[in-house]
Amino acid sequence: MSGWRVRIDADRCSGIGMCEALAPDVLEVGDDGRVHARRDGFADGLRDQVEGAVRSCPTRSLRVVPEHKTV
Ligand code: SF4
Repeated sequence: MSGWRVRIDADRCSGIGMCEALAPDVLEVGDDGRVHARRDGFADGLRDQVEGAVRSCPTRSLRVVPEHKTV
């Protein structure tokens, strides 16, 4: 089972929440109006929904990276 992580550029996020609607298991918009990861990593079974969120983000604030990648 591969592990993935979503990388968030919080400075670009406008907080509208399209990503949260598409990947509610992994992403949520916080009280600060920015998106946050609900978990540190996720498995292959959630990758399609997260990739959909990445594609739908109007500010291109999201990326999926392997969980072990640090940069
Ligand atoms: S879709 Fe993009 S801009 Fe909107 S809340 Fe999610 S990360 Fe932020």
